[in-house]
Amino acid sequence: MSKNLLTAPNGGKTILEVGPVRIGGEEIVLIAGPCAVESEEQLTQSGLHLKKAGVSILRASAYKPRTSPYSFQGHGLEGLKMHKEAQKKHGLLTSSEVMDPRLVQEAAEHVDILWIGARNMQNFDLLKEVGKCGKPIILKRGASATVEEWIMSAEYIMAHGNPNVILCERGIRTFETSTRYTLDLSAVAMARLKTHLPIIVDPSHAAGRTDILDVLCKAAIAIGADGLIVEAHPNPKESVCDAAQALSLEQFEEIAKGLKPLAESVGRKICL
Ligand code: PEP
Ligand code: MN
Repeated sequence: MSKNLLTAPNGGKTILEVGPVRIGGEEIVLIAGPCAVESEEQLTQSGLHLKKAGVSILRASAYKPRTSPYSFQGHGLEGLKMHKEAQKKHGLLTSSEVMDPRLVQEAAEHVDILWIGARNMQNFDLLKEVGKCGKPIILKRGASATVEEWIMSAEYIMAHGNPNVILCERGIRTFETSTRYTLDLSAVAMARLKTHLPIIVDPSHAAGRTDILDVLCKAAIAIGADGLIVEAHPNPKESVCDAAQALSLEQFEEIAKGLKPLAESVGRKICL
């Protein structure tokens, strides 16, 4: 098996084409949506609103890794079906986390992009399985993973046949308690030096709050991220998980508008 699939070829960048969306090109890709799939109605409402706010990929997971076994674990296959139905109305690309190697195929049949959550970044059997599934994979960085470990996990997916990997920085565990995690933007710059893959940033899970989301989004774009993945919910207070960090759809729209000038100032485009 060849090594170092991730070494940037001549310093170039890979652009992934997923349906009509190009990830890693000039345009900043906006991914947003609820933490979890709750209902078809919730997905439709989110998708229709977020589409107008410049989002091209709807996030919402059918499977939820929860700290407590008594918390909502996700709707599973039913949730994936809700994604399919809602997509007929909103028309965006869809995405969900996958956690179980045995369920990768069923997820791949229902959504356009899969993601590996921070807690599973080094679940090597899962990485191998998504390497075979033929769908683009967002690989979130583990909360305690070094940049090198993160990159080697991407290498696992690629070495098993899937070159379509998007790296996602989502905050690391530090001594700081004012935010849920610490957004490590230098990791974006380091991953850029070491790989040719698209890199996106998740400020929602890093901050665990909404009041600094706008500046974190701007900082991510300024440092060279290719996109953002943000939690936004039609009724944040009612969100079944991660309510404290969920923006309303209107708040997301406001933040997205403010990103346009910043994106242009660093030579990127953002279509709103
Ligand atoms: C999520 O995206 O909802 C999530 C659980 O993120 P992370 O794996 O980064 O904690
Ligand atoms: Mn979440």
